[in-house]
Amino acid sequence: MMLQFVSNKGGGKSVDFETAILDGFAVDGGLYVPETLPEISIDQLKKWKGLSYVELAFEILSLFIDRTIISSEDLKKILHTAYTPFEKEEILPLHKLKSRKETYIMELFHGPTLSFKDVGLAFLVNLVNFFLERKKEHLTLVVATTGDTGPATAYFSAGKSNLDAWVLYPKGLITEEQERQMTTLQDANIHPVGVSNCPDGSDDLDLVISELYENKRFKEKLNLSSVNSINWGRVMMQTVHYFYGYLQVADTVGEKVNMSVPSGGFGNLCAGGLARKMGLPIKYLVAANNDNGCLHRIFSEGRFTKEDIIETPSSAIDILIPFNFWRYLYFCINKDSKRIKKWIDLFKAKGSVTFDKETFEAYKKGFLSNTTSDKDTLGLIHEIYTTEKYLLDPHGAVSLKAADVLREKLGSEKLICLATAHPSKFPEVIKKALHTNVIPKEAKHYRIEEAKHLCEKVYLCDHSYLEEALIHAMETNWDLTKEK
Ligand SMILES: *Cc1c(COP(=O)(O)O)cnc(C)c1O
Repeated sequence: MMLQFVSNKGGGKSVDFETAILDGFAVDGGLYVPETLPEISIDQLKKWKGLSYVELAFEILSLFIDRTIISSEDLKKILHTAYTPFEKEEILPLHKLKSRKETYIMELFHGPTLSFKDVGLAFLVNLVNFFLERKKEHLTLVVATTGDTGPATAYFSAGKSNLDAWVLYPKGLITEEQERQMTTLQDANIHPVGVSNCPDGSDDLDLVISELYENKRFKEKLNLSSVNSINWGRVMMQTVHYFYGYLQVADTVGEKVNMSVPSGGFGNLCAGGLARKMGLPIKYLVAANNDNGCLHRIFSEGRFTKEDIIETPSSAIDILIPFNFWRYLYFCINKDSKRIKKWIDLFKAKGSVTFDKETFEAYKKGFLSNTTSDKDTLGLIHEIYTTEKYLLDPHGAVSLKAADVLREKLGSEKLICLATAHPSKFPEVIKKALHTNVIPKEAKHYRIEEAKHLCEKVYLCDHSYLEEALIHAMETNWDLTKEK
Protein backbone atom coordinates (compact mmCIF):
# COMPACT_ATOMS: atom_id res chain seq x y z
CA MET A 1 0.00 0.00 0.00
CA MET A 2 1.22 3.41 -0.95
CA LEU A 3 1.94 5.75 1.99
CA GLN A 4 -0.77 8.39 2.24
CA PHE A 5 -0.75 11.82 3.88
CA VAL A 6 -3.49 13.36 6.01
CA SER A 7 -4.13 16.68 7.74
CA ASN A 8 -3.17 16.78 11.42
CA LYS A 9 -6.51 18.57 11.94
CA GLY A 10 -8.40 15.65 10.45
CA GLY A 11 -10.17 17.47 7.57
CA GLY A 12 -10.21 16.50 3.90
CA LYS A 13 -9.24 13.21 2.30
CA SER A 14 -5.90 11.47 2.44
CA VAL A 15 -3.59 12.37 -0.46
CA ASP A 16 -0.47 10.94 -2.06
CA PHE A 17 3.03 12.32 -1.59
CA GLU A 18 3.02 14.50 -4.70
CA THR A 19 -0.24 16.23 -3.72
CA ALA A 20 0.96 16.79 -0.16
CA ILE A 21 4.12 18.48 -1.46
CA LEU A 22 2.45 20.63 -4.11
CA ASP A 23 -0.43 21.73 -1.84
CA GLY A 24 1.74 22.91 1.04
CA PHE A 25 -1.18 23.29 3.46
CA ALA A 26 -3.87 20.61 3.71
CA VAL A 27 -7.38 21.59 2.53
CA ASP A 28 -8.56 22.35 6.08
CA GLY A 29 -5.54 24.57 6.73
CA GLY A 30 -3.85 21.81 8.74
CA LEU A 31 -0.39 20.35 8.24
CA TYR A 32 0.17 17.17 6.28
CA VAL A 33 1.52 14.18 8.16
CA PRO A 34 2.23 10.65 6.91
CA GLU A 35 -0.43 8.17 7.97
CA THR A 36 2.27 6.06 9.56
CA LEU A 37 5.89 6.74 10.39
CA PRO A 38 8.40 4.27 8.98
CA GLU A 39 10.31 2.27 11.59
CA ILE A 40 14.06 1.93 11.38
CA SER A 41 15.84 -0.82 13.30
CA ILE A 42 19.31 -0.65 14.81
CA ASP A 43 20.38 -3.29 12.27
CA GLN A 44 19.23 -1.02 9.49
CA LEU A 45 21.09 1.92 11.03
CA LYS A 46 24.26 -0.17 11.22
CA LYS A 47 24.02 -0.80 7.49
CA TRP A 48 23.73 2.94 6.87
CA LYS A 49 26.90 3.81 8.80
CA GLY A 50 29.46 5.14 6.36
CA LEU A 51 26.96 6.39 3.80
CA SER A 52 27.44 9.90 2.48
CA TYR A 53 24.79 12.50 3.29
CA VAL A 54 23.21 12.17 -0.16
CA GLU A 55 23.26 8.36 -0.06
CA LEU A 56 21.65 8.39 3.37
CA ALA A 57 19.05 10.92 2.23
CA PHE A 58 18.17 8.60 -0.63
CA GLU A 59 17.55 5.70 1.78
CA ILE A 60 15.45 7.71 4.23
CA LEU A 61 13.37 9.54 1.62
CA SER A 62 12.67 6.23 -0.09
CA LEU A 63 10.71 5.23 3.02
CA PHE A 64 8.27 8.11 2.40
CA ILE A 65 8.19 8.30 -1.40
CA ASP A 66 6.63 5.53 -3.44
CA ARG A 67 8.67 4.47 -6.48
CA THR A 68 5.61 4.91 -8.68
CA ILE A 69 5.67 8.62 -7.80
CA ILE A 70 9.41 9.13 -8.24
CA SER A 71 11.67 6.44 -9.66
CA SER A 72 14.89 5.76 -7.79
CA GLU A 73 16.84 7.17 -10.69
CA ASP A 74 14.90 10.44 -10.61
CA LEU A 75 15.17 10.71 -6.83
CA LYS A 76 18.94 10.31 -7.10
CA LYS A 77 19.06 12.96 -9.80
CA ILE A 78 17.02 15.44 -7.75
CA LEU A 79 19.25 14.88 -4.71
CA HIS A 80 22.36 15.29 -6.80
CA THR A 81 21.15 18.58 -8.32
CA ALA A 82 20.03 19.84 -4.91
CA TYR A 83 23.30 19.31 -3.04
CA THR A 84 25.81 20.14 -5.76
CA PRO A 85 25.93 23.86 -4.78
CA PHE A 86 27.02 22.97 -1.23
CA GLU A 87 30.59 23.93 -0.48
CA LYS A 88 31.80 21.07 1.67
CA GLU A 89 32.09 17.57 0.39
CA GLU A 90 30.53 16.22 3.61
CA ILE A 91 27.58 18.65 3.04
CA LEU A 92 27.16 18.90 6.84
CA PRO A 93 30.61 18.71 8.49
CA LEU A 94 30.99 18.18 12.23
CA HIS A 95 33.46 20.14 14.31
CA LYS A 96 34.62 18.72 17.64
CA LEU A 97 35.04 21.32 20.39
CA LYS A 98 38.20 21.24 22.47
CA SER A 99 36.76 22.91 25.54
CA ARG A 100 33.80 20.53 26.12
CA LYS A 101 33.71 16.76 26.50
CA GLU A 102 32.42 14.81 23.48
CA THR A 103 30.71 17.88 22.05
CA TYR A 104 30.30 18.41 18.33
CA ILE A 105 29.03 21.34 16.35
CA MET A 106 27.15 20.16 13.27
CA GLU A 107 27.56 22.87 10.64
CA LEU A 108 24.35 23.12 8.63
CA PHE A 109 25.36 26.33 6.86
CA HIS A 110 27.55 25.33 3.93
CA GLY A 111 24.78 25.67 1.36
CA PRO A 112 24.70 28.56 -1.12
CA THR A 113 22.77 30.95 1.15
CA LEU A 114 24.72 29.97 4.26
CA SER A 115 21.99 28.74 6.59
CA PHE A 116 20.30 25.51 7.55
CA LYS A 117 17.31 26.47 5.38
CA ASP A 118 19.41 25.42 2.38
CA VAL A 119 19.43 21.86 3.69
CA GLY A 120 15.66 21.42 3.40
CA LEU A 121 14.93 23.82 0.57
CA ALA A 122 17.64 22.59 -1.80
CA PHE A 123 15.72 19.36 -2.05
CA LEU A 124 12.19 20.67 -1.69
CA VAL A 125 12.35 23.37 -4.36
CA ASN A 126 14.00 20.98 -6.80
CA LEU A 127 11.37 18.37 -6.00
CA VAL A 128 8.51 20.83 -6.56
CA ASN A 129 10.10 21.84 -9.84
CA PHE A 130 10.42 18.19 -10.90
CA PHE A 131 6.69 17.64 -10.32
CA LEU A 132 5.78 20.86 -12.15
CA GLU A 133 7.87 20.05 -15.19
CA ARG A 134 6.28 16.63 -15.35
CA LYS A 135 2.75 18.05 -15.03
CA LYS A 136 3.58 21.03 -17.26
CA GLU A 137 2.18 23.36 -14.62
CA HIS A 138 3.17 26.68 -13.14
CA LEU A 139 3.16 27.37 -9.43
CA THR A 140 3.46 30.48 -7.28
CA LEU A 141 5.40 30.05 -4.05
CA VAL A 142 4.87 32.52 -1.21
CA VAL A 143 7.04 32.34 1.86
CA ALA A 144 7.60 34.46 4.94
CA THR A 145 11.09 34.64 6.39
CA THR A 146 12.99 35.57 9.53
CA GLY A 147 15.97 36.04 7.24
CA ASP A 148 17.01 32.61 6.01
CA THR A 149 14.04 30.87 4.37
CA GLY A 150 13.73 33.79 1.93
CA PRO A 151 17.28 33.66 0.55
CA ALA A 152 17.21 29.86 0.24
CA THR A 153 13.81 29.79 -1.48
CA ALA A 154 14.89 32.55 -3.85
CA TYR A 155 18.24 30.93 -4.65
CA PHE A 156 16.83 27.52 -5.48
CA SER A 157 13.83 28.93 -7.40
CA ALA A 158 15.86 31.42 -9.45
CA GLY A 159 15.56 30.84 -13.17
CA LYS A 160 13.16 27.89 -12.86
CA SER A 161 10.54 28.58 -15.50
CA ASN A 162 7.70 26.67 -13.81
CA LEU A 163 7.99 28.69 -10.62
CA ASP A 164 7.47 32.19 -9.30
CA ALA A 165 8.73 32.85 -5.78
CA TRP A 166 7.46 35.69 -3.58
CA VAL A 167 9.55 36.09 -0.46
CA LEU A 168 8.20 38.34 2.29
CA TYR A 169 10.50 39.71 4.97
CA PRO A 170 10.01 42.08 7.91
CA LYS A 171 12.07 45.12 6.98
CA GLY A 172 14.60 46.12 9.65
CA LEU A 173 14.23 42.84 11.53
CA ILE A 174 16.70 40.86 9.42
CA THR A 175 20.30 41.75 8.65
CA GLU A 176 21.32 43.72 5.55
CA GLU A 177 23.36 40.72 4.48
CA GLN A 178 20.28 38.50 4.54
CA GLU A 179 18.22 41.13 2.74
CA ARG A 180 20.73 41.44 -0.09
CA GLN A 181 20.74 37.67 -0.57
CA MET A 182 17.12 38.04 -1.72
CA THR A 183 17.17 41.41 -3.43
CA THR A 184 20.26 41.01 -5.59
CA LEU A 185 19.05 38.01 -7.58
CA GLN A 186 18.20 39.39 -10.98
CA ASP A 187 15.99 36.54 -12.18
CA ALA A 188 12.54 37.60 -13.34
CA ASN A 189 10.75 34.89 -11.35
CA ILE A 190 12.05 36.07 -7.96
CA HIS A 191 10.05 38.73 -6.10
CA PRO A 192 11.32 39.88 -2.71
CA VAL A 193 8.91 42.03 -0.69
CA GLY A 194 10.23 44.14 2.18
CA VAL A 195 7.42 44.81 4.65
CA SER A 196 7.75 47.67 7.12
CA ASN A 197 6.01 47.99 10.50
CA CYS A 198 5.56 44.34 11.39
CA PRO A 199 4.80 44.42 15.12
CA ASP A 200 5.16 40.63 15.44
CA GLY A 201 7.98 40.17 12.93
CA SER A 202 7.62 37.36 10.43
CA ASP A 203 4.62 35.88 12.28
CA ASP A 204 2.65 38.84 10.83
CA LEU A 205 3.65 37.77 7.35
CA ASP A 206 2.60 34.17 7.99
CA LEU A 207 -0.86 35.49 8.87
CA VAL A 208 -1.17 37.41 5.60
CA ILE A 209 -0.08 34.32 3.69
CA SER A 210 -2.82 32.25 5.29
CA GLU A 211 -5.33 34.95 4.30
CA LEU A 212 -4.13 34.69 0.69
CA TYR A 213 -4.74 30.97 0.89
CA GLU A 214 -8.30 31.55 2.02
CA ASN A 215 -8.95 33.72 -1.06
CA LYS A 216 -10.07 30.79 -3.25
CA ARG A 217 -10.27 32.67 -6.54
CA PHE A 218 -6.80 34.09 -6.12
CA LYS A 219 -5.27 30.89 -4.80
CA GLU A 220 -6.56 28.86 -7.72
CA LYS A 221 -5.70 31.40 -10.39
CA LEU A 222 -2.08 31.64 -9.28
CA ASN A 223 -1.75 28.02 -8.12
CA LEU A 224 -0.47 29.18 -4.76
CA SER A 225 1.71 27.03 -2.54
CA SER A 226 4.35 27.36 0.14
CA VAL A 227 7.70 25.86 0.99
CA ASN A 228 7.76 27.28 4.51
CA SER A 229 8.14 24.49 7.01
CA ILE A 230 4.38 24.01 6.91
CA ASN A 231 5.35 21.90 3.86
CA TRP A 232 5.85 18.25 4.75
CA GLY A 233 8.81 18.08 2.36
CA ARG A 234 10.85 20.38 4.61
CA VAL A 235 10.26 18.36 7.73
CA MET A 236 10.86 15.07 5.94
CA MET A 237 14.16 16.28 4.49
CA GLN A 238 15.23 17.64 7.86
CA THR A 239 14.94 14.21 9.50
CA VAL A 240 17.98 13.21 7.43
CA HIS A 241 20.50 15.42 9.20
CA TYR A 242 19.62 13.86 12.57
CA PHE A 243 20.40 10.41 11.20
CA TYR A 244 23.51 11.72 9.49
CA GLY A 245 24.86 13.50 12.58
CA TYR A 246 24.14 10.48 14.73
CA LEU A 247 25.94 8.08 12.42
CA GLN A 248 28.95 10.41 12.24
CA VAL A 249 29.52 10.54 16.00
CA ALA A 250 28.27 7.17 17.26
CA ASP A 251 31.13 4.70 17.75
CA THR A 252 28.65 1.92 18.44
CA VAL A 253 25.40 2.15 16.55
CA GLY A 254 22.71 1.88 19.23
CA GLU A 255 24.39 4.15 21.80
CA LYS A 256 22.37 7.23 22.76
CA VAL A 257 23.34 10.73 21.65
CA ASN A 258 22.00 14.15 22.74
CA MET A 259 21.19 16.93 20.29
CA SER A 260 20.65 20.63 20.93
CA VAL A 261 18.79 22.70 18.34
CA PRO A 262 18.34 26.49 18.06
CA SER A 263 14.62 26.68 17.51
CA GLY A 264 11.81 29.00 16.57
CA GLY A 265 9.09 27.51 14.40
CA PHE A 266 9.91 23.96 15.59
CA GLY A 267 10.34 22.72 12.01
CA ASN A 268 13.85 21.48 12.67
CA LEU A 269 13.01 19.95 16.05
CA CYS A 270 9.80 18.40 14.78
CA ALA A 271 12.00 16.50 12.34
CA GLY A 272 14.31 15.51 15.19
CA GLY A 273 11.38 14.28 17.27
CA LEU A 274 10.05 12.26 14.35
CA ALA A 275 13.52 10.81 13.62
CA ARG A 276 13.57 9.54 17.20
CA LYS A 277 10.06 8.10 16.88
CA MET A 278 11.30 6.31 13.75
CA GLY A 279 13.96 4.63 15.87
CA LEU A 280 17.00 6.92 16.01
CA PRO A 281 18.62 6.53 19.47
CA ILE A 282 18.49 10.15 20.62
CA LYS A 283 18.46 10.56 24.41
CA TYR A 284 17.42 14.19 24.72
CA LEU A 285 16.49 16.82 22.17
CA VAL A 286 17.08 20.31 23.52
CA ALA A 287 14.79 23.12 22.38
CA ALA A 288 17.20 26.04 22.51
CA ASN A 289 15.37 29.38 22.53
CA ASN A 290 16.47 32.97 22.92
CA ASP A 291 14.48 35.34 25.17
CA ASN A 292 11.39 34.85 23.01
CA GLY A 293 11.05 31.49 24.73
CA CYS A 294 7.96 30.15 22.98
CA LEU A 295 9.18 26.54 23.07
CA HIS A 296 10.63 26.85 26.55
CA ARG A 297 7.14 27.74 27.80
CA ILE A 298 5.70 24.73 26.02
CA PHE A 299 8.28 22.27 27.36
CA SER A 300 8.77 23.65 30.86
CA GLU A 301 5.26 24.89 31.71
CA GLY A 302 2.89 23.17 29.29
CA ARG A 303 1.71 26.49 27.88
CA PHE A 304 1.46 27.41 24.18
CA THR A 305 1.10 31.18 24.36
CA LYS A 306 1.85 34.13 22.16
CA GLU A 307 3.76 36.96 23.84
CA ASP A 308 5.22 40.17 22.41
CA ILE A 309 8.25 39.76 20.20
CA ILE A 310 11.69 40.65 21.56
CA GLU A 311 14.47 41.54 19.11
CA THR A 312 17.58 39.48 19.83
CA PRO A 313 20.98 38.83 18.18
CA SER A 314 19.67 35.41 17.08
CA SER A 315 17.01 37.05 14.93
CA ALA A 316 16.22 33.98 12.82
CA ILE A 317 14.56 32.47 15.88
CA ASP A 318 12.65 35.57 16.94
CA ILE A 319 9.46 33.61 16.42
CA LEU A 320 6.30 33.62 18.51
CA ILE A 321 4.24 30.78 17.09
CA PRO A 322 5.98 27.42 16.68
CA PHE A 323 3.33 26.05 14.35
CA ASN A 324 5.22 22.80 13.67
CA PHE A 325 4.65 21.86 17.29
CA TRP A 326 1.10 20.90 16.25
CA ARG A 327 2.55 18.45 13.78
CA TYR A 328 4.74 16.78 16.37
CA LEU A 329 2.02 16.78 19.02
CA TYR A 330 -0.23 14.81 16.67
CA PHE A 331 2.18 11.87 16.91
CA CYS A 332 2.37 12.12 20.71
CA ILE A 333 -1.37 11.79 21.37
CA ASN A 334 -2.21 8.76 19.22
CA LYS A 335 -2.92 10.90 16.13
CA ASP A 336 -6.01 12.38 17.74
CA SER A 337 -6.69 15.05 15.11
CA LYS A 338 -9.91 16.18 16.83
CA ARG A 339 -7.95 17.36 19.83
CA ILE A 340 -5.32 19.03 17.63
CA LYS A 341 -8.07 20.96 15.87
CA LYS A 342 -9.65 21.93 19.18
CA TRP A 343 -6.35 23.33 20.49
CA ILE A 344 -5.52 25.18 17.27
CA ASP A 345 -8.96 26.80 17.31
CA LEU A 346 -8.58 27.67 20.98
CA PHE A 347 -5.19 29.23 20.31
CA LYS A 348 -6.63 31.29 17.44
CA ALA A 349 -9.43 32.55 19.66
CA LYS A 350 -7.53 33.13 22.91
CA GLY A 351 -3.83 33.33 21.97
CA SER A 352 -3.07 30.71 24.60
CA VAL A 353 -3.47 27.00 25.30
CA THR A 354 -2.57 25.25 28.54
CA PHE A 355 -2.20 21.50 28.08
CA ASP A 356 -3.56 18.93 30.51
CA LYS A 357 -1.01 16.98 32.54
CA GLU A 358 -1.26 13.81 30.49
CA THR A 359 -0.68 15.60 27.18
CA PHE A 360 2.18 17.61 28.69
CA GLU A 361 3.90 14.45 29.91
CA ALA A 362 3.37 12.75 26.56
CA TYR A 363 5.03 15.39 24.37
CA LYS A 364 7.66 16.46 26.88
CA LYS A 365 9.24 13.02 27.03
CA GLY A 366 12.82 13.22 25.76
CA PHE A 367 12.83 17.01 25.48
CA LEU A 368 14.63 19.64 27.52
CA SER A 369 14.51 23.38 26.92
CA ASN A 370 16.26 26.60 27.77
CA THR A 371 16.26 30.31 26.98
CA THR A 372 19.53 32.11 26.36
CA SER A 373 19.85 35.84 27.06
CA ASP A 374 21.50 38.21 24.58
CA LYS A 375 24.37 38.70 27.00
CA ASP A 376 25.03 34.95 27.23
CA THR A 377 24.80 34.54 23.45
CA LEU A 378 27.44 37.22 22.89
CA GLY A 379 29.53 35.96 25.81
CA LEU A 380 29.67 32.43 24.45
CA ILE A 381 30.63 33.57 20.93
CA HIS A 382 33.49 35.47 22.57
CA GLU A 383 34.53 32.56 24.80
CA ILE A 384 34.66 29.95 22.05
CA TYR A 385 36.45 32.30 19.68
CA THR A 386 39.13 33.33 22.17
CA THR A 387 39.67 29.87 23.67
CA GLU A 388 39.62 27.77 20.53
CA LYS A 389 39.56 30.08 17.52
CA TYR A 390 36.19 28.77 16.41
CA LEU A 391 33.52 31.29 15.49
CA LEU A 392 29.91 30.43 16.30
CA ASP A 393 27.03 32.34 14.76
CA PRO A 394 24.45 33.66 17.26
CA HIS A 395 22.13 30.65 16.67
CA GLY A 396 24.90 28.10 17.13
CA ALA A 397 25.77 29.95 20.35
CA VAL A 398 22.17 29.61 21.57
CA SER A 399 22.26 25.86 21.02
CA LEU A 400 25.61 25.37 22.76
CA LYS A 401 24.59 27.60 25.66
CA ALA A 402 21.44 25.55 26.24
CA ALA A 403 23.54 22.38 26.32
CA ASP A 404 26.03 23.98 28.75
CA VAL A 405 23.21 24.95 31.09
CA LEU A 406 21.56 21.54 30.89
CA ARG A 407 24.76 19.48 30.90
CA GLU A 408 23.99 17.66 34.16
CA LYS A 409 20.55 16.55 33.03
CA LEU A 410 21.87 15.54 29.63
CA GLY A 411 24.45 13.20 31.15
CA SER A 412 27.71 12.03 29.66
CA GLU A 413 26.46 10.86 26.25
CA LYS A 414 27.89 12.47 23.15
CA LEU A 415 26.34 15.78 22.28
CA ILE A 416 25.69 17.40 18.91
CA CYS A 417 24.83 21.10 18.84
CA LEU A 418 23.32 22.26 15.58
CA ALA A 419 24.83 25.45 14.14
CA THR A 420 22.29 26.83 11.71
CA ALA A 421 23.88 29.89 10.10
CA HIS A 422 27.24 31.14 8.90
CA PRO A 423 28.56 34.02 11.04
CA SER A 424 28.97 36.20 7.91
CA LYS A 425 25.20 36.73 7.90
CA PHE A 426 25.48 38.53 11.26
CA PRO A 427 28.62 40.71 11.14
CA GLU A 428 27.29 43.35 13.54
CA VAL A 429 26.53 40.76 16.21
CA ILE A 430 29.96 39.22 15.76
CA LYS A 431 31.70 42.59 16.10
CA LYS A 432 29.77 43.30 19.27
CA ALA A 433 30.49 39.87 20.73
CA LEU A 434 34.22 40.13 20.02
CA HIS A 435 34.44 43.79 21.12
CA THR A 436 35.97 44.90 17.84
CA ASN A 437 35.22 47.12 14.86
CA VAL A 438 36.99 44.79 12.49
CA ILE A 439 35.11 41.86 11.04
CA PRO A 440 37.27 38.77 11.59
CA LYS A 441 38.01 36.61 8.55
CA GLU A 442 35.81 33.81 9.90
CA ALA A 443 32.82 36.15 9.66
CA LYS A 444 33.42 36.93 6.00
CA HIS A 445 32.18 34.98 3.04
CA TYR A 446 32.68 35.65 -0.64
CA ARG A 447 28.98 35.22 -1.41
CA ILE A 448 28.07 37.94 1.09
CA GLU A 449 30.78 40.20 -0.35
CA GLU A 450 29.66 39.61 -3.93
CA ALA A 451 26.11 40.66 -3.18
CA LYS A 452 27.34 44.12 -2.10
CA HIS A 453 28.39 44.78 -5.69
CA LEU A 454 24.95 44.13 -7.16
CA CYS A 455 21.85 46.30 -7.55
CA GLU A 456 18.90 45.53 -5.31
CA LYS A 457 15.50 44.84 -6.80
CA VAL A 458 12.63 44.74 -4.34
CA TYR A 459 8.97 45.53 -3.70
CA LEU A 460 8.35 47.62 -0.59
CA CYS A 461 5.10 47.79 1.31
CA ASP A 462 3.65 48.75 4.67
CA HIS A 463 2.23 45.93 6.73
CA SER A 464 -1.20 47.61 7.01
CA TYR A 465 -1.78 47.33 3.26
CA LEU A 466 0.13 44.15 2.61
CA GLU A 467 -2.70 41.83 1.65
CA GLU A 468 -4.29 44.03 -1.03
CA ALA A 469 -0.92 45.27 -2.28
CA LEU A 470 0.34 41.73 -2.64
CA ILE A 471 -2.74 40.52 -4.45
CA HIS A 472 -2.33 43.40 -6.88
CA ALA A 473 1.38 42.87 -7.47
CA MET A 474 1.14 39.11 -7.76
CA GLU A 475 -1.82 39.16 -10.09
CA THR A 476 -0.27 41.83 -12.31
CA ASN A 477 2.91 39.79 -12.57
CA TRP A 478 0.91 36.66 -13.32
CA ASP A 479 -1.09 38.32 -16.08
CA LEU A 480 2.02 39.87 -17.64
CA THR A 481 4.04 36.69 -17.67
CA LYS A 482 1.08 34.65 -18.87
CA GLU A 483 0.63 36.92 -21.90
CA LYS A 484 4.11 36.16 -23.16
C1 LIG B 1 14.99 29.00 10.67
C2 LIG B 1 16.17 29.02 11.55
C3 LIG B 1 16.16 28.39 12.79
C4 LIG B 1 14.94 27.79 13.40
O1 LIG B 1 14.39 26.69 12.77
P1 LIG B 1 12.91 26.27 13.08
O2 LIG B 1 12.68 25.13 12.21
O3 LIG B 1 12.04 27.45 12.74
O4 LIG B 1 12.82 25.97 14.53
C5 LIG B 1 17.33 28.40 13.54
N1 LIG B 1 18.44 29.03 13.09
C6 LIG B 1 18.47 29.65 11.91
C7 LIG B 1 19.72 30.33 11.51
C8 LIG B 1 17.36 29.66 11.09
O5 LIG B 1 17.40 30.29 9.91
